[in-house]
Amino acid sequence: MPIQTVNPYNNKAIKTFDTFSDEQVQQKITAAHKTFTAWRNTPIKERAALLARVAQLMQERKSELAALITLEMGKLIAQSESEIDMCASVYQYYADHAEAFLEDRPLEVKDGRAFIRYTPTGIILGVEPWNFPFNQVGRLTAPNIIAGNVIMIKHASNVPQCAQMIETLFTDAGAPDGLYTNLFLSSDKIAALAADERITGLSLTGSEKAGASLAEAAGKNLKKSVLELGGSDAFIILDDADVDLAVEKAVLGRFNNMGQSCTSSKRIIAVEGIAEEFLAKFTAKITGLKVGDPMDRETKIGPMVSEEAAQNIAKQVDDSVKAGAKVVIGGKRIDREGAFFEFTILTDIPKDAVAYHAELFGPVASFYKVKDVEEAIALANDTGFGLGGSVFSKDKAKAVAVASRIDTGMVFINQNLASRPDLPFGGTKRSGYGRELSPLAVEEFINKKVIYIPE
Ligand code: NAP
Repeated sequence: MPIQTVNPYNNKAIKTFDTFSDEQVQQKITAAHKTFTAWRNTPIKERAALLARVAQLMQERKSELAALITLEMGKLIAQSESEIDMCASVYQYYADHAEAFLEDRPLEVKDGRAFIRYTPTGIILGVEPWNFPFNQVGRLTAPNIIAGNVIMIKHASNVPQCAQMIETLFTDAGAPDGLYTNLFLSSDKIAALAADERITGLSLTGSEKAGASLAEAAGKNLKKSVLELGGSDAFIILDDADVDLAVEKAVLGRFNNMGQSCTSSKRIIAVEGIAEEFLAKFTAKITGLKVGDPMDRETKIGPMVSEEAAQNIAKQVDDSVKAGAKVVIGGKRIDREGAFFEFTILTDIPKDAVAYHAELFGPVASFYKVKDVEEAIALANDTGFGLGGSVFSKDKAKAVAVASRIDTGMVFINQNLASRPDLPFGGTKRSGYGRELSPLAVEEFINKKVIYIPE
């Protein structure tokens, strides 16, 4: 796959980049490791000041950065700006909490004194996806840089200008050479890098196939890995839910970013008493929306990330319909230039349909009407994925009881799932392992060293 910007609004290739030679990669690893030996001893306050400066630069350059996101992967411009705000807040969060997260943790021991001291390990190699090209990178980078590690990123091949821009932000913020390194590499070069002793941890956000390949390479080399993979989140609406609130959040949860989020509300499960009203209002909300240029603030339906992605979702919908699913609205490519696909709702989805068991990474909501709460929970758990989910009910205690029976890493009550700096983000089952964000992310690639001092 060439490293190339292709604008999905018109499918025109804009810019192509060469991959790095093996020699260049070795030089970059050497520089990163040299920086690590100094950065690990840099006072936490200085590390925090650097991240705060990155956050500030992102805010100052928001228009430019957001426009790059929209150019390379088609996100609506207002959503690109929100991504920059979110990502800056992640850097700022770790800058603000660095000292508290990294201070020694005393241990209760029967004699003497003991504590855990957090010490960095080395270079952390991240493999990142295009769907939130700044924020996905920030979520791995901020907690590790604050912990004293250094970062190398192989970004998705279709967002090279965003990839390069993140390195520029670090350079402009005053980071030493090698603290943050962008690697223009094809994905088949990643496994071999896992053998390098200077690389001490590997993290991948993306598909199950890519995750399995990275985890295999990490395992063979006895390296720690973190995987943030796909999801098919259930959005459960109980019969005492606020329907209008559920509709508003379902539209956001399913169609934001053209449905291309790991935690999109992909399966909407409504209990009988409320299902028809919800479906009618949900359908109405996505009817007649303006299709067009993602740079135009009036546009509500922009392109998907690529022509291939639009073709793929079209095939998944066609195959599901052939298996018996019904289309309530949408279901087709939009007849115009670019990677467009209609906002779509499917119902009556049989168990053997693609829409039932696969991740639909595009603007397609699978709607299920169920008899009661037990059936809702059983359906929510009838998937190989275990990333997020939502439960809607005016009775918060009841919603929490349902949430605790859903086999996923995260559940939000009366809200669509969203990424926040102060909440751990990650999954279970085939959605991966490990956590990003919150204090937990700092602990993923750090040595929790025990120091014991006898009396
Ligand atoms: P993808 O094809 O797996 O690509 C993700 C990254 O992995 C890219 O940088 C890609 O490089 C690289 N890659 C691909 N195959 C690889 C291999 N064999 N070894 C090492 N690296 C490899 O994923 P995608 O389809 O673009 O992204 C969408 C998927 O990501 C969805 O399933 C979505 O749910 C998931 N996702 C999960 C989270 C989360 O936090 N859980 C967040 C966002 C997205 P190239 O671009 O060069 O192929």
